Parts: sequence; C-alpha cells; structure tokens
Amino acid sequence: MSKFSDETELGMGTRGVLAGRPGEWTGTPGHPGAVVNPAVWRASTHLYPDMDALRAHAANQDGKFYYGRRGGPTQWALAEALTQLEPGAAGTVLYPSGVAAIAGVLLTVLRPGDVLLMTDNAYEPSRVMGRGLLRDFGIDTRWFDPTDIASFEAACCERTRAVLLESPGSLTLEVQDVPALAAAAKARGLVTVLDNTWASPLGFAGLAHGADITVMSLTKHVSGHSDCMMGCASAGEDWYRKLRLRAQGMGNVVSPDDASLMLRGLRTMKLRLEAETGSALAIASWLVGRAEVARVLCPMLPGSPGHELWLRDFTGGCGLFSFVLKGGTSEARDALIDALDLFGIGYSWGGFESLATPVDPASIRTASPWPLPGMDAADRFGVRLSIGLEDTADLIADLGRALTLWSVHGDVA
Ligand SMILES: *Cc1c(COP(=O)(O)O)cnc(C)c1O
Repeated sequence: MSKFSDETELGMGTRGVLAGRPGEWTGTPGHPGAVVNPAVWRASTHLYPDMDALRAHAANQDGKFYYGRRGGPTQWALAEALTQLEPGAAGTVLYPSGVAAIAGVLLTVLRPGDVLLMTDNAYEPSRVMGRGLLRDFGIDTRWFDPTDIASFEAACCERTRAVLLESPGSLTLEVQDVPALAAAAKARGLVTVLDNTWASPLGFAGLAHGADITVMSLTKHVSGHSDCMMGCASAGEDWYRKLRLRAQGMGNVVSPDDASLMLRGLRTMKLRLEAETGSALAIASWLVGRAEVARVLCPMLPGSPGHELWLRDFTGGCGLFSFVLKGGTSEARDALIDALDLFGIGYSWGGFESLATPVDPASIRTASPWPLPGMDAADRFGVRLSIGLEDTADLIADLGRALTLWSVHGDVA
C-alpha cells in the first residue's frame, strides 16, 4: 500500500488516502503518465502476446488479467482499497449493488435445507430475500429480536447455518452486541454475516468484532453523491476465495467507470462522515427537546437506545437516524415530510443532500415489538433522516417549521 514498513500503524484517514493506488496502475512519480488515481481501464478482452501466455493464465488468479468479467485494474484498485480499510480482510468482492452483495454472500454461504437467522431490524430488501429468493432455493429464514441474545438462541435449530446481522439497523437503529452474537454463532458452527453499511469500516471494524463476512452498500457513504450504485463483501482468506468464485460464477461484475467514481468518493468519506455525524448529533439532541417528538433513535446520542454498545464498539458514526412522533396519523406524518424544504424525499442515504423518509416498523417486524418497550402505543409514526452536508442551523430551522404542524395533528401537550 505504501512505502512505510508497518501499514497497520497507519490511521484510517491515511489509509483512505493511500489505499488502492498501486504503482503498477498509477505509474512511477516523475515518469511520463504517472497519475494520482488509477485510470478508468475499460476492457472486456484482455490480449495475450501468444498462446503460451494465454495458457499460463488459465488458472483463476486474483487480480491478474484474464477477461473483463474477472475485473481489471480500476476494479482491483477499489477492492484493494476497501480491503485495506477492513482489518482482518484478505480480500473484497465487488457487486453491482448492495442487495446483489447480500444475495451473493447468502448464496455462497447457504445450501438448500439450511436455515438463516436474520435480525428483525434488517433492511427490508434483506427480509424480502429471506421470504422470496432464499425460500425458492429451499432455504428457510427465521427472525430474532436484534437486542435479545436469548431470542437469537431460541431461533437456532439443527439446520441453522448462518446469521445475518445489521448494526445499527438502518430504520430503527438498534445496536447489536456483535461480539456476543458472533461468539454465540461461532459456538454453534454458524457463519456470521454483518451488513455494516451504516458505520462502514471507518466506524466499526466488523471482522475484528467477530463477523466472518462484512457486507456494505457502497451506494451510501462510499459514493456519497447519490449517483452510483455498488456493493461489496470483505472476508478472510477462505470466505473471500469462495465469495469471489461464486460472484464470478453468477456473472457479477462492476463497470470500471463506477469503480472509479467509488474510489473518488472513498477519498473524502472520512471527512463527510465526520461532518454528517456532527450535524446529526446536533439535530438529534435538538429533537430530544421538542414536544412533538416521542423518541429519538440515534445510538450516537447519550441517553438514546444502544448508546452504551455504540460507545464500546464503534469508532465513528454517520448522518442516518430516526425519530418517532408523538401520536398523530400516517397522513399527518406525510404532511410533515412534505412540509420540509431542504430534505429530499427519496430512498437511500449517505449522500451530500439530506433526505427524509417515513419509518413504519410495525408493518415489517415479526420478532420484536414496535413501539419499543417503554413507548406509548400511540407513538408509532417515525421519520428517518439522512443528514447531508447542508449547514446544521438551516436543517434545524427547516425541521422546526415542519414540526410546528404537529401541534395540530399529534398529542402535543
Ligand atoms: C441501501 C442498503 C442496502 C442495499 O444497497 P443498494 O446498493 O441500494 O442495493 C443494504 N443494506 C443496507 C443497510 C442499506 O441501507
């Protein structure tokens, strides 16, 4: 990665700058053509000088020219950079989207007849995969309460092969005790897969905390600009090899143009995450003091659910959190979101522009309660905010304007 001998001593910021820029693809400084970023290397056909050379490449070697479906320098540079950011990873596989990464991993780990345990706060398309794609392949999914290890243990059976964690959950933000769950899974011989999209490896070292495979939607923080989709999975040697071969077998390949956009986003990810985290924390603490708000779900905030685990395990956060309104109706919540000026209405998160979407866990969950224990049954309508790079004061003023509507609709004293 660099000329420094001990790379493990480098901080994440430094790694984010140096990683994935092998001299092989960026040139030697001072020589003609030397550049900072690996070029966009477009190719389906890779040419060989003669038949001997073609035959010599028949073995499936990682990071070696063969044919476009096994990638090229731009994709290898991105995969290498992501590997450098994930302590314990031997390699990273790229997929055309985060959902493709989750599917690619689960279809590598699971076989017909297996049972997958899935956290009840998982991203909805992951749940849909359990009920649809996996079911069609003879794999059953059972859900468990994200914050209750006894619920995980109770859901285990003889056919259980793997567990899918997501911490914090990207809608309701429960932090899971990943080390404890991974240890319990390991004791039963299960494979632990962690969707680490919220924190990214900058905020949570998933493999180092016990996961066997970490998955991330690069569409969110790594892109950072809402204009590109991709996913990845990182793992130690054994799972990395299996994931890579399965991804190739399923024909998963990402374009070098997109890989180049992701590399560009990766270079500024740390700064963006820090800025969004600071702004989100300020907005979350402001929301705590509002009469219209029943609960703020933001583990970075002292006093919020999951904060103790977050402090123990995480090194950083991001701009994504939710809050629950006091009373009201779904229609009134829609009107509140419509009244926001600076928040885009649309799916995804992690971009430079702030977004707001409704959160309705009651219609999704099957293994854990909503409203959460200790919450009033009437307080059910949530809003998820993805805080971007606008000025915090402007976002607070916008939210303040929209929240005043709630005194008409909600149970505001
Ligand atoms: C968005 C998201 C995904 C899927 O990523 P895409 O790139 O949109 O397919 C997976 N997990 C979580 C937690 C997400 O928020």
